[in-house]
Amino acid sequence: MSVAVKNLTKTYGNQKAVNNISFELRKSEIVGFIGPNGSGKTTTMKCICGILPPDNGSIEIEGKDVYANMLTIKRMIGYLPEHNPLYTEMYVREYLNYIDGIYNKKAGRKERVDEIIELTGLTVERKKLIGQLSKGYRQRVGLAQALIHNPPVLILDEPTTGLDPNQLVEIRTMISELSADKTVLLSTHILQEVEAICDRVLIINQGEIVADGSAETIRKSKNKNEQTIYIEFNTSIKQELLEEIEGINKVQNVSVKEFLIAGNSKDDLREKIFTFATQNNITILTIRKVEETLEQAFRKLTTGK
Ligand code: ADP
Ligand code: MG
Repeated sequence: MSVAVKNLTKTYGNQKAVNNISFELRKSEIVGFIGPNGSGKTTTMKCICGILPPDNGSIEIEGKDVYANMLTIKRMIGYLPEHNPLYTEMYVREYLNYIDGIYNKKAGRKERVDEIIELTGLTVERKKLIGQLSKGYRQRVGLAQALIHNPPVLILDEPTTGLDPNQLVEIRTMISELSADKTVLLSTHILQEVEAICDRVLIINQGEIVADGSAETIRKSKNKNEQTIYIEFNTSIKQELLEEIEGINKVQNVSVKEFLIAGNSKDDLREKIFTFATQNNITILTIRKVEETLEQAFRKLTTGK
């Protein structure tokens, strides 16, 4: 196990930000960490990185307790904090050289600094002041500082928030490529991003983990036998006729020819609808299952709606 969080609790004053949560990150896995604002993502990430001691519980990275092995742990983790705090008055290369020097107790290693500049696509911008960079390039600098010591674990707190659609895809691709052999915990509000690059999803709500699994299992977790079918006929159909089909609980019309049909059945409802259509001599133009989206599952798990 790469990262093991056990019964982690963190309170600010009398506000419990994280309440007795446990989860594990397996080696080389990219895990999406999602939850409403204020649900405890940043707090959890800071505790994992060794910068915010928990009130209770333990965190181990590759079997080592974070707070008993602080220096070793810092070498094992790359952290990109939320809002990416950078020294805006430093030049890109100068800053990365400085960060590399911290890990090596001396000046930064020229080859490694050049390599990370290349890997994060900063070559053209390397001589600029950080303050002169666009948000997308600042995020690249943030990723570069998190990766410079080649840590096995990466903790990325909302790395794509505030980026334009092009920058977003570039940073997302970069994260996937540069973390091929790393264990990554990545928080985000972009659920497509989770489906695109994460192997697993953790959903946190009010300081508690409310789902832990693949995006697919979370989407389907609500009720395995419940199905929704979208159907389009070539002619208008009375809704009541559809309501009589066995196994169907609810029919909602989209137009006079199109319906969303929900039912509880172990069998595929599409077969019953197809039989209904042939018996009544009606032509089906479209029929498909409507999958619950991760967004719907997220809303249900975090608001109950
Ligand atoms: P998220 O990253 O999911 O938005 P946070 O971990 O930042 O959530 O915050 C969880 C809760 O803890 C929020 O209610 C937030 O206001 C509170 N909180 C976070 N940091 C502090 C702090 N330094 N002092 C007091 N309350 C805090
Ligand atoms: Mg946060």
